[in-house]
Amino acid sequence: MNLIDTHTHLYLKDFDKDIDTTIKRALDVGVNKFFLPAIDSSHMDKMFALKEKYPEYVYLMAGLHPCYVKENYKTELDFVKKTIETHKDYFHAIGEIGIDLYWDKSFLEEQLFVFQEQINLALHYNLPIVIHCRDAFNYVYKTLKENNPSTLNGIFHCFSGTLDEGQKIIKLGLLLGIGGIVTFKNGKIDTFLSQIPLEKIVLETDAPYLSPVPFRGKRNESSYLKYIVEKIASIYNCSEEKVVTSTTQNAIKVFSV
Ligand SMILES: [Zn+2]
Repeated sequence: MNLIDTHTHLYLKDFDKDIDTTIKRALDVGVNKFFLPAIDSSHMDKMFALKEKYPEYVYLMAGLHPCYVKENYKTELDFVKKTIETHKDYFHAIGEIGIDLYWDKSFLEEQLFVFQEQINLALHYNLPIVIHCRDAFNYVYKTLKENNPSTLNGIFHCFSGTLDEGQKIIKLGLLLGIGGIVTFKNGKIDTFLSQIPLEKIVLETDAPYLSPVPFRGKRNESSYLKYIVEKIASIYNCSEEKVVTSTTQNAIKVFSV
C-alpha cells in the first residue's frame, strides 16, 4: 500500500501528546505522505516544525482558512503572501481556501475577497488550490468559473455535495477530496460516487475531524484512510489496490511530488 492523505491537520493540539505514534500508525498501514492544509498565522510554526521532523513524509500548504477571515484579514493575507515568498520551495498548494457560511455569514464580502486573492497567488506561483466550501457552493462555483478554468488545478476538499455539483467541479478541472463522509449512513455521496471517474478523486481524512465509520465521532487520524479505501472499493466494485493506485497517482499529479 502506498497511500496519500491529501488533507490532515496533524499539527493541531489534538495530536500534541501522541504525534509520533500517530504518524507511525499511519506509516504502518501504508500512508506515507501527509499534506497539511494551513489555517492561519498562529498555526504556521507548528506546521514548519512537523515538516522539519518528518521531511520525507510531511508536505505543507499555505493559506488562510475561510473561517479565520475576520477583522484582521488583511494582516493574515499579508502573512500568507510573505510566507510563500520567503519559503517558496516548502509549499505544494494554496489551502485551505474558500467560503464557509455555516458558522458565520457576517464576513462574506471579506471571504470572497480573500478567496480570490489566494487564487491569484496560486496562479502566480503555479500551485494547486485546496478548497474548503461549506453552505456556499454557489459562491465558490461562481468564483472559480469567473477565473479562467483552464488555469485552475487543485482539490475540492471534503466533498459532500450532489452528483450535479461533483460533475460541475470536475468539469472545472478540479479533483474531489473524499473522506470519512463516504462511510456515513446519511452521507449520501456513496449513492452516486461511482458515476464520478476514479481518476477524479483523491483520499483525505481531514483529521482530527470527520472520522470514518467505525470511529465516527472520535478523533480522526491518517491511519483511518484504510476505512475510506475499503468503502470506496465497495462503491466502485473494484479492488482496494485499484483505489489506492489510482488515487495516489492523482494526488502525486495534482501536488507535483
Ligand atoms: Zn481542513
